Amino acid sequence: MKTDNVDCSTFSGWVDPPADVLPALAEDLTCDVAVVGGGLGGMATALRLAERGQDVVLLEAEFCGYGSSSRNAGQLASAPGGDLQLLNLMYRKRMPGMVRLAENAAHFVEGLIDTHRIDCDYEAVGNCFAAVSRGQMGRVRRVARILRRVGGHVEVGTSAELGIPRGFVGGMREVIGGMMNPGKFSRGIRTVLLASSARVFERTKVTDVTREDGRVVLSTPRGSVRANKVVLATNAFAGEWDITPRNLSVPIWIIEAETEPIAEERLAALGWTSRSGVVTQHNIMENYRLTSRNTIVFGVRRLERGTKFPLPAKAPDPGTVDDLAKGFARRFPSLADVEVKRAWGGWIAITSSFLPLAGQVGGNTFYSIACNGHGLAQAPYVGSLIADMIIDGHRHDDLEHVWTRKSAFPRAVMLGRLGLRMIWTVDRWNDLVNGSRRRARRGSPAGS
Ligand SMILES: Cc1cc2nc3c(=O)[nH]c(=O)nc-3n(C[C@H](O)[C@H](O)[C@H](O)COP(=O)(O)OP(=O)(O)OC[C@H]3O[C@@H](n4cnc5c(N)ncnc54)[C@H](O)[C@@H]3O)c2cc1C
Repeated sequence: MKTDNVDCSTFSGWVDPPADVLPALAEDLTCDVAVVGGGLGGMATALRLAERGQDVVLLEAEFCGYGSSSRNAGQLASAPGGDLQLLNLMYRKRMPGMVRLAENAAHFVEGLIDTHRIDCDYEAVGNCFAAVSRGQMGRVRRVARILRRVGGHVEVGTSAELGIPRGFVGGMREVIGGMMNPGKFSRGIRTVLLASSARVFERTKVTDVTREDGRVVLSTPRGSVRANKVVLATNAFAGEWDITPRNLSVPIWIIEAETEPIAEERLAALGWTSRSGVVTQHNIMENYRLTSRNTIVFGVRRLERGTKFPLPAKAPDPGTVDDLAKGFARRFPSLADVEVKRAWGGWIAITSSFLPLAGQVGGNTFYSIACNGHGLAQAPYVGSLIADMIIDGHRHDDLEHVWTRKSAFPRAVMLGRLGLRMIWTVDRWNDLVNGSRRRARRGSPAGS
């Protein structure tokens, strides 16, 4: 693949930043509920509160949609994130609730798109756990059995049966969900939020959260907000707070890249008839998806841990893009001459348990900040459930499921720099072994 002219962005390849970024807070305000962070999680929380008649203020450090919400792969998943076999082993009793939450979250986002007529190129085509080897196919079958046992809506088949590219052995499709342009979706939700009664301030970084006379005080460089209740929806940036549970999550940087537009006949030759997004079953997944602009967006494969706060605004480095391009050329040999046009990345929050978490600190401060790379559906859904809880005084079953009462979590040891490098090496080693086996089956020489 050609990677000489990649436009590496510090924002997103899906959309440009909005032209109408709102002014910063420049006064002292009071409100009933304040939301910190204008990603899909924070925006959905504020929107729900406003729709239900609450006096709500949202403060966003840059502009609404600045974070992962506009940068992700746009795969609206309906299965939980993480290693499902491991999660089933450790949290067997919680699996039905995790799967119900994931499916309800995908339906919730589809509802938002419909209700607000958001133009985000959404296609309800599901997403596939795709196997690149027989070993991965075995894993896919085991995961499918787990999901079916707990009521998940999935189907297993060969690549031809699922209509995914022939380079994959087969896979499992999550029937619910699909793919979208997440930049357009975030922009759409921002527009709906700005038209609501919520008071939104962009370019407003909250620098401190304190308590005074039973209220929460949010400090910002040019003003403050005194609120009866506060929701922290700052995702990977949550590590900046010392009020949330210790080791709640670690910030991980992941990237996506996009090809140049590809001729329709070349795309058709892949056999990708279902258009379902695919994620491989490596320890660190590779994701691939078609877009409405006849390109393929692909990503992850490598995780990089953030080491200090504030998290920097980063552009992907050429070495990481090259590594992604190598993976692409291996999965799509017929497109190995295609050019990588752009690349970008973002910060996600990973918990040590790989379970999404929400909770409450000090009575009137709530948080929902760790969707483990599956937040396109789950962040806005959990945010809206927190809004309902604030108004109704009780938690929906799905919220109860992710609610944590812990004040500290174990350190995520495998998510250290060395651990992540080791996991990447194991994945590449498996790729090598699988490649040799495939060539041996075909009787072709090494390197062909
Ligand atoms: C490259 C990539 C690919 C991904 N692919 C997928 C996918 O295909 N499917 C999927 O389900 N998920 C995916 N994800 C994960 C998904 O994007 C996130 O889980 C989700 O967007 C989280 O939403 P959020 O609102 O919690 O956080 P964010 O969108 O990160 O929003 C947090 C906001 O808080 C603001 N903020 C932070 N600190 C402060 C402060 N002190 N004061 C005020 N504002 C503050 C930030 O500026 C930011 O706008 C991907 C993520 C990345 C980065």
